[in-house]
Amino acid sequence: MRETSADVVIIGSGAGGGTVAKELAPLARAGRRVVVLEWGARLAEHEYTGREVEMAGKLYFENGGVFTRDRNMTLAFGRAYGGLTVVYTGTSLTIPKRVVERWGVPGLDWDDLRRRSAKYMEENNVHLQSEERLNDNNRLFRLGCSRLGYRCEQFPINVKGCRASSLCNLQPLPLMVKGSLLADLIPTFDFVNMIGGECDR
Ligand SMILES: Cc1cc2nc3c(=O)[nH]c(=O)nc-3n(C[C@H](O)[C@H](O)[C@H](O)COP(=O)(O)OP(=O)(O)OC[C@H]3O[C@@H](n4cnc5c(N)ncnc54)[C@H](O)[C@@H]3O)c2cc1C
Repeated sequence: MRETSADVVIIGSGAGGGTVAKELAPLARAGRRVVVLEWGARLAEHEYTGREVEMAGKLYFENGGVFTRDRNMTLAFGRAYGGLTVVYTGTSLTIPKRVVERWGVPGLDWDDLRRRSAKYMEENNVHLQSEERLNDNNRLFRLGCSRLGYRCEQFPINVKGCRASSLCNLQPLPLMVKGSLLADLIPTFDFVNMIGGECDR
């Protein structure tokens, strides 16, 4: 066992932990020891094979199928450097006001959330896909909606260099292609230490 000490320990390098690490980078640059503890494997680019079964075992806790207590449905937990941002689709939405109001959590203010969302959307290159990037499924869906009189809009996404291969989720594309937080965070890790390890309490 290796012993180390830190001023700040962030558990997990996913959407939450990675974002906190990025925000704390100036603190780390100023001399504080900020550590991210991550139990997922750090895969090299060539280890992203594009094969579902193989990748599920490498990137998800218990292969991505954890039963709820009543065994009615399964939940997927990431176990990877970059957490689920390595496999997520990149759909980036601002939480609707009515949802925040329904939650009624003290101190959670929609205006504040909206401002923060706008900041992260800009920093993470959230955009709509260009017309030529829409595949036949998308086009057909849009056509069907318009024929039935439904409104149909694109989800804004955070994906860089999309190759329209449809291989984003269980078969992630190389990190630098997707807009994964890990890819965006690599410069941060010059200052913030990533340590492979498990937090057990
Ligand atoms: C296939 C898929 C597609 C998705 N698409 C979208 C999308 O398009 N848009 C969207 O907004 N959301 C999407 N999501 C959901 C989104 O990815 C998650 O809500 C988000 O990543 C959760 O962030 P998090 O930081 O809470 O957890 P994670 O990103 O999962 O990060 C948790 C990290 O903590 C590590 N960890 C956990 N326990 C320990 C421990 N004890 N010790 C050390 N490390 C530990 C894990 O390995 C992991 O890296 C998708 C999810 C999946 C599975």
